[in-house]
Amino acid sequence: ILIEKTAVITGSTRGIGLGIARALSDAGANVVLNGFGDVLAARALIEQAGGKVAYHGADLRHPEQIADLMHYAEKEFGSIDILVNNAGIQHIAPIEEFSIEHWNNIIALNLSAGFHTTRLAVPVMKKNNWGRIINIVSVHGLVASSNKSAYIASKHGMIGLTKSVALELAKTGITCNAICPGWVLTSLVEQQITSKATLQGISYTEAQSQLLLEKQPSGVFVTPEQIGALLLFLCSDAAEEVRGAAWNIDGGWIAQ
Ligand code: NAD
Repeated sequence: ILIEKTAVITGSTRGIGLGIARALSDAGANVVLNGFGDVLAARALIEQAGGKVAYHGADLRHPEQIADLMHYAEKEFGSIDILVNNAGIQHIAPIEEFSIEHWNNIIALNLSAGFHTTRLAVPVMKKNNWGRIINIVSVHGLVASSNKSAYIASKHGMIGLTKSVALELAKTGITCNAICPGWVLTSLVEQQITSKATLQGISYTEAQSQLLLEKQPSGVFVTPEQIGALLLFLCSDAAEEVRGAAWNIDGGWIAQ
């Protein structure tokens, strides 16, 4: 269904981003990966399934590197049709101990990078009057938890950006939406489970089930594959009038 389409997925060398890249590739799209770590393994996962893949290692805290990534994607495959703003980081500390450096890095990556990729993608998408901008936000774009001030502020900001871009593009074939996952078992969450276990002197397994039960009524992790499937729906023609939505996929987290 997405043959001839090109997707840029930020932070797609592992976790949710890699799951999304795999789903888009399986649906026929060319994918441009980005992020750090085991790039070869990420590339291989897509290539072995028969997809066309390119990679750019932009550090998205820097606007000039974001411009390089977007130009590279357009040059490599001739268009940018789907933009998935996924890269994100977390830091946990009470506000009075939250370092300025952590604040600046989180806002730069989780919020400002989405502004830059979007402002650069929209003129390219307008050429074909078709596009899908999908922001991987979080339930933390809709509700808060303690000790995550920068993350919560950045994610609430991304919901605002999603809505305003959706409105600006409402009369075009380009839609902009947010997906808001609850807990997904990736390295971002594994770090939180490990530090919870250390702080409370409990086992990793105990910390994991406590973490889930505190917020996620299903008691089950959301998977990158489930997020990929929702994202494919948002890319489909059936979702053409889904605009400015913040769609939770969270085991019931925000229903409480
Ligand atoms: P992850 O840590 O497994 O993956 C993050 C990806 O971003 C990696 O590919 C990493 O290399 C890349 N990255 C990190 N810093 C970067 C930078 N400066 N420039 C470019 N790329 C960079 O995390 P994840 O859990 O897969 O999270 C992906 C997104 O989903 C994030 O925006 C996160 O906030 C959001 N999210 C995660 C959960 C969860 O429970 N895991 C829940 C809700 C929302």
